[in-house]
Amino acid sequence: MVNDGLLTAVEDELESRSWRLRFAEAVETRFEADTQRERCYNMVVAGLIASTIYCLFLLNDYSFRPDAFLIAVFLRAGVMLPVGLLILWRVYRGVSPLLREALMASTILFATVISCLIFVNSITPYSYLDVFSFGLILLVGNIVYSLRFRYAMVSSAISILIILVFILPYEAMPSEAKRLAIFTIVATGLFTLAANYRLERSERTAYLLMLREKIRSGYYLKDNQKLSQLSVTDPLTSLANRRQFDAIVPVRWKEAMEKNTCLGLMVIDIDNFKAYNDYYGHQAGDQCLRRVAEAMQANSRDADLVVRFGGEEFVVLMANASPEAAEPAAERIRRSVEALQIPNLGVSNRSIVTISVGIAVLFPAVGQSPADLLSRADAALYEAKRQGRNRTWVASPVDSLSDADAVGGLSRSAQ
Ligand code: GH3
Ligand code: MG
Ligand code: MG
Repeated sequence: MVNDGLLTAVEDELESRSWRLRFAEAVETRFEADTQRERCYNMVVAGLIASTIYCLFLLNDYSFRPDAFLIAVFLRAGVMLPVGLLILWRVYRGVSPLLREALMASTILFATVISCLIFVNSITPYSYLDVFSFGLILLVGNIVYSLRFRYAMVSSAISILIILVFILPYEAMPSEAKRLAIFTIVATGLFTLAANYRLERSERTAYLLMLREKIRSGYYLKDNQKLSQLSVTDPLTSLANRRQFDAIVPVRWKEAMEKNTCLGLMVIDIDNFKAYNDYYGHQAGDQCLRRVAEAMQANSRDADLVVRFGGEEFVVLMANASPEAAEPAAERIRRSVEALQIPNLGVSNRSIVTISVGIAVLFPAVGQSPADLLSRADAALYEAKRQGRNRTWVASPVDSLSDADAVGGLSRSAQ
């Protein structure tokens, strides 16, 4: 449903591509979410390269305006570099899209001011030649960083204004050179802005096409399904987890009421598992849990839901169960675990890993809830443990429903 809406929005964007770059809100949010990480990373890499080149310009400072060299070292390496690196670090750590663009644009303005300060601090006849290279700063913002177009425009305009403020009153520069420099810088600004616009436009169009294909091919759907699959599966045993059980029990309960059938539940607990863990260690304990879970799954009906309820406790939910059929089913599971013959030397030399099973079967009726089924099966498990473990125990039939009766009316049925 959500994807249907997004697909329509993406198709609308593709059809109505005007000169406007920003997408409608829903698509824009998606675009930012999908590209933000990589964009920040690319900007930081570009920023590091630009910072290095900015500092390498000290070689030029040294060669044609030695009078301002110390100032240049201070401004480039002592001011611009640390501020630039700080900003890049902030962007790398993650910022909002607006702040990301604003911070990167601010480095362009800052570099312009610093370059102008170095240039006006020298009185050597060639210092002004540097002004012709100022267009490079615009090029970095508009092409190398590829600032979003609006930010590119604003930062270019302000940069040019700053340059004008410094150039115009600078007397050592011939007016012809000033004219040429300003013309060159403005032209560089315009050309790089045009390129910036085209870059952003094709990036956005490519994104729309890619997003459309992903939605059409069910990519996001599969992702969602994978996610929901993960969230209802126990990672250790791959059995259903408690969450899935909680979601399915009411459904089965309602079905059983409608069809007038019984619902059955086994509550299973590994015997002396603490001793196993203490003796073999937690990892071996996990391995044992996996093997027991596998045996239980392999020895239950396809229609039954085998669940890791928590720790070393499992439940099996049986639709369309009967007291007569539930007990042998539980017994089959118990035997399958016993048959694994996993030694449990934590208990004694001859002990093996076993399970105890409590079983309850009832007709769902008005006034009862799945919690009744669970507490009856729990009580039966308690009794199986009390009777000596490695056995199954069925709670008494449905008619004696009080909790006291649930335990008192238990009947022995195995081992
Ligand atoms: P009983 O026969 O009465 O059930 O005795 P028990 O030792 O099995 O029961 P108890 O509840 O005292 O101990 C359960 C132990 O199960 C505690 C813990 O060491 C172990 N356990 C619980 N969850 C996990 C798990 O995910 N991995 C491992 N390796 N051990 C677990
Ligand atoms: Mg336990
Ligand atoms: Mg146990």
